[in-house]
Amino acid sequence: MSDSPTASIPPVVFAVDLGGTHLRMALVDDAGSIHKQTKQETPKSDSAEDIIAALVAAAQQWESYREAVVATSIMVPGAVDADKAVVLQAPNLPSLVNFALKAELEKRLGWPVFLENDANAAAVGEMWLGAARGCRDVVSVTLGTGVGGGVILDGKLWRGSHGSAGEIGHTTVDPFSGLKCKCGNTGCLELFASATAIVRMTRERLPEFPSSRLQSDGLTAEKVYEAGRLGDELALAVFKRFGMYLGIGLANLINLLDPQIIVIAGGAVNGWDLFAEEMYRQVEERAFRTTAQQVKIARAECGDNAGLLGAARLALSC
Ligand SMILES: [Zn+2]
Repeated sequence: MSDSPTASIPPVVFAVDLGGTHLRMALVDDAGSIHKQTKQETPKSDSAEDIIAALVAAAQQWESYREAVVATSIMVPGAVDADKAVVLQAPNLPSLVNFALKAELEKRLGWPVFLENDANAAAVGEMWLGAARGCRDVVSVTLGTGVGGGVILDGKLWRGSHGSAGEIGHTTVDPFSGLKCKCGNTGCLELFASATAIVRMTRERLPEFPSSRLQSDGLTAEKVYEAGRLGDELALAVFKRFGMYLGIGLANLINLLDPQIIVIAGGAVNGWDLFAEEMYRQVEERAFRTTAQQVKIARAECGDNAGLLGAARLALSC
């Protein structure tokens, strides 16, 4: 399949969102315009070759852009060594861990390869074109299946000494909950402030709310949200608890980093009107007053594309 050449194609980055479930790819120019975009399921196999083949096939599909592409920039859900473009840890993409991604893709595609953690890329995307435009100290918190985080200090992405900075979802907010996280810790933020947590907390409290419209079978975070909007007391209690723990996590972040803005992203942010009040209350109670009064907590603006845009931006600024 080929596409017709455009009259004048600006330089673009072949940006790749390599998720555990979906593989999304786009051509992004230096103004943040997306020229081409595609989405498919991430190949499920023990071999990195299948993932590489999918990337190469997508790049070939956009053959008319070949001369305009200046880099490949990939983001993954895991810890990376950005300098070497090596995946250090990625539970959902085991075949890529320590794989020579950079060498293989540079050989097959011919463009320099960059690699970034997905939450970090999303933070950069929001700073470039989203809710954190014009800010230099930015924390982004993504509330999805888990909770991800990205930290930008003085305009620069803070990756940490071992590629795992910004793991906000695995900071402890309740050590006595008895709840074990997949990271090995107990009481992590993502056990209370993720879509997965909404479902679990609803199930746990169903017996307390016999008149709730919610049922254990087929329960999703969306269903809990819809029930909450209709005034269901169980759903409202769950989102209040969600907001409480999120607020505790954010207050810790605020006292630690004093950011200009915290951008909240991810699917669970749809419940904003049900959890924001309690989130703000906790921040107000726990963070330093003058800081808490000035920090902005805002919903993300780039949606699903934040990471792709951020990945492109990172490659363009190198
Ligand atoms: Zn954890």
